[in-house]
Amino acid sequence: MHTGTGAGREAALDAFLADAGPDGAGGDVARRVAGEDAAEEFPATLVARLDAFGLPAYYVPAEWGGAGADHEVLLRLWRTVARRDLSAAVAHGKTYLGAASVWCAGDAAQATATADAVLAGEPVAWALSEPDHGADLLNGELTATAQDGGRRLDGVKWPVNNATRARLLTVLARTGAAGSGRGQSLFLVDKSALAPGSWHVLPKEPTHGIRGIDISGIAFEGAVPAPGALLGREGGGAETVLRALQLTRTMCAALSLGAGEHALRITAAFAAERIIQRRPLLDRAHPRAILGRCAALTAAAESAALVGSRAIHTLTGEMSVVSAVVKSVAPALTDAVIAELAELLGARSFLTGVYAHGAFQKIWRDHQIVSVFDGSTPVNRAALVQQFPRLVREYRAGTVDEKGLAGAAAVGEPAGPLDRGALTLLSRRGCSVVQSLPALSRALAGEAAPEGLVAHAVAVAAAAGEVHARMAAVAPAAHPPMSAYETAAAYELCYAAAACLHTWSAGRHRRRGEPLWEDGLWARAALRALRAGLATTLRTPAPSAAPGDDGLDGLLAEHVARAARDGGPVTPFGAPLTGSRDGR
Ligand SMILES: Cc1cc2nc3c(=O)[nH]c(=O)nc-3n(C[C@H](O)[C@H](O)[C@H](O)COP(=O)(O)OP(=O)(O)OC[C@H]3O[C@@H](n4cnc5c(N)ncnc54)[C@H](O)[C@@H]3O)c2cc1C
Repeated sequence: MHTGTGAGREAALDAFLADAGPDGAGGDVARRVAGEDAAEEFPATLVARLDAFGLPAYYVPAEWGGAGADHEVLLRLWRTVARRDLSAAVAHGKTYLGAASVWCAGDAAQATATADAVLAGEPVAWALSEPDHGADLLNGELTATAQDGGRRLDGVKWPVNNATRARLLTVLARTGAAGSGRGQSLFLVDKSALAPGSWHVLPKEPTHGIRGIDISGIAFEGAVPAPGALLGREGGGAETVLRALQLTRTMCAALSLGAGEHALRITAAFAAERIIQRRPLLDRAHPRAILGRCAALTAAAESAALVGSRAIHTLTGEMSVVSAVVKSVAPALTDAVIAELAELLGARSFLTGVYAHGAFQKIWRDHQIVSVFDGSTPVNRAALVQQFPRLVREYRAGTVDEKGLAGAAAVGEPAGPLDRGALTLLSRRGCSVVQSLPALSRALAGEAAPEGLVAHAVAVAAAAGEVHARMAAVAPAAHPPMSAYETAAAYELCYAAAACLHTWSAGRHRRRGEPLWEDGLWARAALRALRAGLATTLRTPAPSAAPGDDGLDGLLAEHVARAARDGGPVTPFGAPLTGSRDGR
């Protein structure tokens, strides 16, 4: 297992992955990934490589013998995998998702058994969905009926990642009334302990993206799990799942960060090398604007995700808000980035065997599912809307957990301990990241922050006021109107903007002299792009320009093109890409 700082471990994993090809060249990883995808083959080489690196240890909390003490570190490691192959990241990372409920609600025996399996490189699956019930977990029909000698499971879980490969699955099953918050219980099911014939796995489902991985399912017919399989209290399954989702939804952002970075590298390399009418594409205003905006939005997604991963430790009680926001905003920004870059890459974004091993169209297909699984964007927005009254109250009161917020913004520092018992279904304090915006914009104005950044910060704080006014106007309802979902989307952009400002402010002195940090370059560009998104979402006039806006796109585009060529970091908190050749 590799130790050291988050960035150090990220670099170590990247070098390890780049070495996976027969001649040690990163380009060969890309070729193999493309071949496996075309053949719909499981990404076995990369997954074995991740096991050899010791990645499974990061899925196990330190108290159970693992290295999973810091979610920023795990976010960085997953991003490192995802920027090479999203399929491998999803296939391997699912084990963390499957095991998260055990760390939240399991007893010592369950945690030890799960930790031993994970540390030995065994996959774990998380079986929540059913053919007739996707997001609607409370109405799942798979039953766990009490009988002599335990409980019998009857029903189907589908689609489930790793359902076939995994021996251990955490399974949500009905033990009470349908639709009730106390009607479902969670079980740690060991397939090898079930009677033969009492269960079978369902065939692998062909998929549009992440083609090779084990998307299948499991059917139980009178399967009796070993004694001690119940995780937590009877009837507490939905609550445990909702608490575990606060960890996993936040961490899913790593998949988006890797996909966005990969797409950016490929397109920036193309723009630099493609000659049209005797001039590189990169010299033209239009490609520069697209690359600059996409780099800015990728940076914004990175800040939102990093703050979220650290908030798990420092603002634990606020994760019902933070996880819903991060799970929505990171895939949404990345989907937008990929769509814009696809247009710039042109035909090569669509062809499978012409440019960079056809990686772009694979990223595009693979990433589509990130906004769907582990809670879709509408589901997360619905969860946020339910918390509007509290969020409005705390915003107006200016409630901020200053210590927790400073910890969440201190990217690169150890994130500190995690008290899983502090994960609550509804945040009592609202969201410190967003609630700090008015004070933060005032403080930046008083500091020696770049003029353009201050102007953007003040404008975002004003927009946040408007967003909260609209949130206040949403009447509590089981089925909120469409406008509430749009307001939730605007809230997410406020969160991302606040995350950028906080991480910039916390890192600005340490990162002085780095090109992306010079004169607040990345933060100004990110705030400008988020303000444009806010204006579109709120249907308000296009935002006014801030001092220095004119040159931002060109500077960012040139930075990304250089990084794509040399394998340097493309984002403010990014890592170099070992063995890179023109971003491929
Ligand atoms: C590749 C892949 C891997 C997967 N892996 C797993 C896994 O490992 N384990 C597992 O349990 N499941 C897994 N799933 C299932 C996935 O989590 C579900 O697809 C998801 O929960 C949504 O279910 P559904 O698509 O059936 O849609 P439904 O829940 O039927 O929703 C249909 C539509 O309604 C929207 N919707 C639902 N509820 C609301 C609401 N309250 N407010 C507003 N809109 C709403 C949804 O966003 C969607 O657009 C996987 C799916 C795929 C495709």
